[in-house]
Amino acid sequence: MFLHSHPVTLPLVSQSCKYIFVTGGVSSSLGKGIISASLAKLLQTRGYSVTIQKLDPYINIDPGTLNPYEHGECYVTDDGAETDLDLGHYERFINIPTSQANNITTGRIYQNVIDAERRGDYLGKTVQVIPHITDEIKRCVQILGNTGEYDIVVTEIGGTVGDIESLPYIEAVRQLKRELSGRCLSVHLTLIPYLAASGELKTKPTQHSVKTLLESGVQPDILVCRTEHSLSKDLKLKIARFCNVADEAVIEARDAASIYEVPLLMEKERLDEVVLNKLNLPIDNKPVLIMWKEFLHKLNHPKTTVKIGLVGKYVELKDSYKSIAESFIHAAATNECKVDLKWFHSEEISAENAQDKLAGLQGILVAPGFGSRGINGKIEAIRYARENGIPFLGICLGMQCAVIEFARNVIGFEDVSTTEIKPDCEHPVIDMMQEQKKISDKGGTMRLGAYPCRVIEGTKMFDVYGKTDVFERHRHRYEFNNDYLADFEKHGMVAAGINPDRNLVEIMELKDHPWFVGVQFHPEYQSTVANPHPLFVHFVKAAVEAAELKPVE
Ligand code: GLN
Repeated sequence: MFLHSHPVTLPLVSQSCKYIFVTGGVSSSLGKGIISASLAKLLQTRGYSVTIQKLDPYINIDPGTLNPYEHGECYVTDDGAETDLDLGHYERFINIPTSQANNITTGRIYQNVIDAERRGDYLGKTVQVIPHITDEIKRCVQILGNTGEYDIVVTEIGGTVGDIESLPYIEAVRQLKRELSGRCLSVHLTLIPYLAASGELKTKPTQHSVKTLLESGVQPDILVCRTEHSLSKDLKLKIARFCNVADEAVIEARDAASIYEVPLLMEKERLDEVVLNKLNLPIDNKPVLIMWKEFLHKLNHPKTTVKIGLVGKYVELKDSYKSIAESFIHAAATNECKVDLKWFHSEEISAENAQDKLAGLQGILVAPGFGSRGINGKIEAIRYARENGIPFLGICLGMQCAVIEFARNVIGFEDVSTTEIKPDCEHPVIDMMQEQKKISDKGGTMRLGAYPCRVIEGTKMFDVYGKTDVFERHRHRYEFNNDYLADFEKHGMVAAGINPDRNLVEIMELKDHPWFVGVQFHPEYQSTVANPHPLFVHFVKAAVEAAELKPVE
């Protein structure tokens, strides 16, 4: 579903890929991912082929085994990598798929080095952080560049300079700048805090942050300064002088109303121009952001508002459902409406209060998840949506709960569940996939990544997709139990999408309901600004139609 379109002809560039390293200083959460994605977007719209990579300094091999409270959503790529959520931003901005090579952690680096040591690759040598770990980092940085597919690789380095665990990465950047001279650039994102008491913006933390980078031998080429207030020319010159960067290389990054404004802010600040000049790349083509601006215009001028409830168990940390929230933004723009997303903790919904809590919603989404906590609340929310004709989308565990709810309340099974929660239930309508039964390791062993799904003609989902063959990304161990399919279809819940190779049910929909869909896969991982996901687009459309019938209170 990704269109790798170059709106303008590719400029003639050298065969050698260029590398841009984005580091952060002063504070975490300054938005390195969004700055990296925005820069990549601008370079892409100038005709360059760009990809973005994230290096994460933690020891986990990948974030797949991390609780979302720790690190937000785990994003999944086509090739089944469980990655940092920033990769979702990369895909949403530049609309090209990422892969295993786009997210590397310290755990992975060490695992590769230790595996090599056990194989005997370093026989006779003492294996050390420098050169072995740094060499492995450098190798991982260049994997994408060496494919020949990209003119530019943007590498975001997680964490903040000065962190002990970031040191080998900064050292690898230092070495690469030396070895690939002229082909590497260092962009440092810092914070210029505003002191309300004195009414001043302060540059000292940025100066210190640059000093920390310098201690590791890296002179930043460009400083992107996150700020609540506009930076005066004098202040920019002061930063340039103290931090030893060119005057034009101090870029203001004002807080934006939406992350999707940031590419335009960066264009105004000429970040892409400064980058290309420093990399000696042609800047003849202007960025073409027509589609992007149209998207923003629609986003900022909604004709109507719909209230959609997101029911999940990690709602205290909204990053846990990042891709879902962003998919709603894409779908809202397509429908020229605003989606007012209401977050509901599934543990707080019960049979007694579902009606009160969920009244007034024009759509309900039940989120993915693992384990039994909050399951009953999810099932009650689904029952409310089903019985009241509220548009519903259940994703992964959300779909599994919809199946359980239907079996319990429509088919009339009493002891019904998923074997994830009740292994010995009488009617395991959701059961562990056969191949999962022999797996004991938790990391990277689910059914992960893109698999084909055949959409059945004549279903509502066929109208949504407009075609039979689609690919969707997965992350699960449990699956609809086909022994029960006939029971479901007899009662009006039909399989609308099937994996053609293994006959696994991927989509369930209700016949007698305006819009009620459960999907075993994760459509949210594939929604981008350029290609909003049809399931979200049609779900929001159904919510708009529901609002027209019953206007928002
Ligand atoms: N826990 C369920 C499974 O493993 C659903 C997973 C999910 O929602 N991503 O099948």
